Amino acid sequence: MFIGHFGLGFGVKKAAPSLSLGTLFIAAQFLDLLWPVLLLLDIEHAELKPGTGHSQPIAFTDYPISHSLLMVAGWGLLFGFIYWLFKRNSRNAVILAFCVISHWVLDLVVHLPDLPLYPGAGSPLLGFKLWDSFWGTLIVEGGIFITGLVLYIRCTKPKNKQGIIGLLILVLLLVAVHAANIFGPPPPAMNAVAWAGNLQWLFVILAYWVDHNRSAIK
Ligand SMILES: [Zn+2]
Repeated sequence: MFIGHFGLGFGVKKAAPSLSLGTLFIAAQFLDLLWPVLLLLDIEHAELKPGTGHSQPIAFTDYPISHSLLMVAGWGLLFGFIYWLFKRNSRNAVILAFCVISHWVLDLVVHLPDLPLYPGAGSPLLGFKLWDSFWGTLIVEGGIFITGLVLYIRCTKPKNKQGIIGLLILVLLLVAVHAANIFGPPPPAMNAVAWAGNLQWLFVILAYWVDHNRSAIK
C-alpha cells in the first residue's frame, strides 16, 4: 500500500491538530521509510516477480524488522516515546504510536500472505490479498486517501497562498507516484525500488512546509 498510508496521516490531523502533517506522514509511513534503508543495507530482502502481470511486482520475501507485527508494535512505542521525551504530550505520543502500527494493519488488508507476526522462520505469514483485485485495491486505498485528505482540508485553513498551492503540489505528486506504481512499467531492479523508496522523504518535507502554511481550525 502506498497512498492509503498518506491518507491516514492526513486524516489523523483532525484528532491531533497540534501535530504537523510532516510528523504524521513519518509515523504513518515509518515502516516503508525504514524498509528501503534495510534493503540497501542487505538486512532485509525482496525480489521482483518478472512477468506475472500482477499489479504488485514485488515479492516481500524477508522483512521481519520493518514489517513483523511484534517489531512494528515496538517501533510504534519507540516512536511515541521519543516524541513524548521532546514534547511531553502523552495524547499526541499515543496517536503517533497508533499511526505507526496502523501501517501494518493497512498492509495486512492488501498484502499477499507475507507479513510475519514476529521475526524468525517459524512465524505465520499473514495478508488478506486485496492486491489480487485491481479495483478492490484502488477503491479501498483511494477511499482512505480521499477521506483523509477531506478531513485534513476541513480541519485546517490556509494562512497564505503557499498553504493552498503547497497542498495541491503535495496531493498531485502523491497521486502521480501512485498512478506510476499502478500503471507504469515494473521497476528495473530491486535496488532501484530501494533508492526510490528513500525519495519518500520529499513528501515528508513537503508536508512540513504545507502544514506550516496552514493553521488548524479549532
Ligand atoms: Zn509497508
